[in-house]
Amino acid sequence: KLSKRLETVSNYIISNSTFADIGSDHAYLPCYAIKNGLAKSAIAGEIVEGPYQSALQQVKEAKLENNISVRKGDGLEVIEANEVDCITIAGMGGGLITSILQKGADRLEGVKRLILQPNIGAHHIRNWCVQNNWELIAEVIIEEDEKIYEILVASKIQTNEFYKLTDASLLLGPFLMKEKNNVFKKKWTEELKQWKTILEKMNKAENPDKISERKEQLEKNILLVEEVLK
Ligand code: SAM
Repeated sequence: KLSKRLETVSNYIISNSTFADIGSDHAYLPCYAIKNGLAKSAIAGEIVEGPYQSALQQVKEAKLENNISVRKGDGLEVIEANEVDCITIAGMGGGLITSILQKGADRLEGVKRLILQPNIGAHHIRNWCVQNNWELIAEVIIEEDEKIYEILVASKIQTNEFYKLTDASLLLGPFLMKEKNNVFKKKWTEELKQWKTILEKMNKAENPDKISERKEQLEKNILLVEEVLK
C-alpha cells in the first residue's frame, strides 16, 4: 500500500499525462500511478545506484517496463525538454528540490505542472516559484506516522502576469494559511515553540551583535506566524 504522503502527491498528476518522478527510490509512485490509470507513462529518475536498482527491480516485478522508464542521473538531466507534462519530486528537503529545479531549468520547457513534497523548508520552493513564474495552484498539509508533510502544486504561468506572494504566504503557504487546518496549526505551534527557545538562548549569548541578523529574521518570522495563528 502506498503511503498517504505519496498518494496525495499522485492525486495531482495530470490525467493521461507522461510524468517524471525525480529521486524515485523504489519507484513506488510511478508504479502506483500507472497501475491505477492516473498517468499514461512515467520516467523514474535516480542518482544513487542502490535506489536506481530498486526502481528497476520494482518496475520489472510489476511488469510495467513498457510504461515506466527507469533512468540513472542527477535531477532533471534524465529527461529531455518537452518530454514530460508533469514532474513529481518527493521526500527531500525544500532546498534540494529547489536546487534540482534550478539546475534543470532548461528541461522544464514544456512542463505544465510540478508536484513537490518537501520534508522541510517549503519556503525555498515558494520563493523559487515566485522568481521563476510558477504559480501555486494547490497546497496540502498532512500528518502521517507522526510526521507532518506539505505538498505543493505549481502551474507554469503562460501570460506575462506577475505572480507575487506576501512574506507570510511565502513562509506558511497561501492556501495552507487560509485553510488553517489542525495539522497546520500543530506544525506552526511547534515551530513557534522551538523558535522562541532559540531566541531566548540568543538573548543570553555573550556577544549578541554577531547573531543579530539571524535574530532579526527569527523575530520577524515569529511575528508572522503568531499573526496567522491567532
Ligand atoms: N521520492 C521517494 C519518496 O518520496 O518516498 C524517495 C524519497 S528518498 C528520501 C530521496 C531519493 O532522492 C533518494 O533515493 C536519493 O537517492 C534521491 N536523490 C537525491 N538527490 C537526487 C538528485 N539530485 N537526482 C536524483 N535523485 C536524487
